[in-house]
Amino acid sequence: MGGYNSGGHNRRGCPTVDQCTRLRLQELKACGLLRPGASGTASMGRLVFEIRAHDDGLILTLARRGAPPGPAKFVDIEKHARAFGGFQGYFRCPDCRCRYTALILYGERFSCRRCYRLPYQSQRSRTYDRLLTKARKAEALLRGISPQECIGMDPPDRPKGMHRRTYMRLIQPILRASDEFVFEAARRFGV
Ligand SMILES: [Zn+2]
Repeated sequence: MGGYNSGGHNRRGCPTVDQCTRLRLQELKACGLLRPGASGTASMGRLVFEIRAHDDGLILTLARRGAPPGPAKFVDIEKHARAFGGFQGYFRCPDCRCRYTALILYGERFSCRRCYRLPYQSQRSRTYDRLLTKARKAEALLRGISPQECIGMDPPDRPKGMHRRTYMRLIQPILRASDEFVFEAARRFGV
C-alpha cells in the first residue's frame, strides 16, 4: 500500500493538523490491514512503516531503505461491533489512551492531535461546517439514504462490488470531517 497523505509544514513554525501525516484506521481497514495476521507497508511522508496486524492492535516498525529497522511500536486498537454488522475501530493514543480514528505521525512518533497540541487553522468552524455537509452527502451516497439521516462521521463499510479505490475516494470527506471533529468540539465547548 502507500499513498498516505504526505506531511507538510507551514512556511513558519508548526504544522496544522491538516498538513500532518495521519495513520487513519479506515484506510488500513480498506486495505485489509486490520485483519489479524495481515501485514504490509505504508509510506507516510518520507518514512516507510511495516505494519503487522494482531487481534488487538498493530505493530509498526520504521523501515527505511538501506537502514536497520527502527524499534517496533505497538498501537492498541479497540473494535466495537456495529448494529448492522462489521465493526468500528479506534486507536488508543499511545500517550493519553483516548480513542481516535486517526493518529498523527510527527517526527517518528505516533500520537493523537490533542497530545501534539497542533494548532487550529483559521476559520476552522466554517471549514468544519462545510466538511460536514460534504461528509453527509458522501455517507448518504454510500448507504443509499438521504443526507439528513447521516451524521457524516463514520464511514460505512465498503459496499460489496465497489472498487477499493472508488471507496477510498468517496470516504475522504467523511474522514476529514471526523478528523476535524475533536478540535471543533474543543473549540466550541472549551473541553
Ligand atoms: Zn493523545
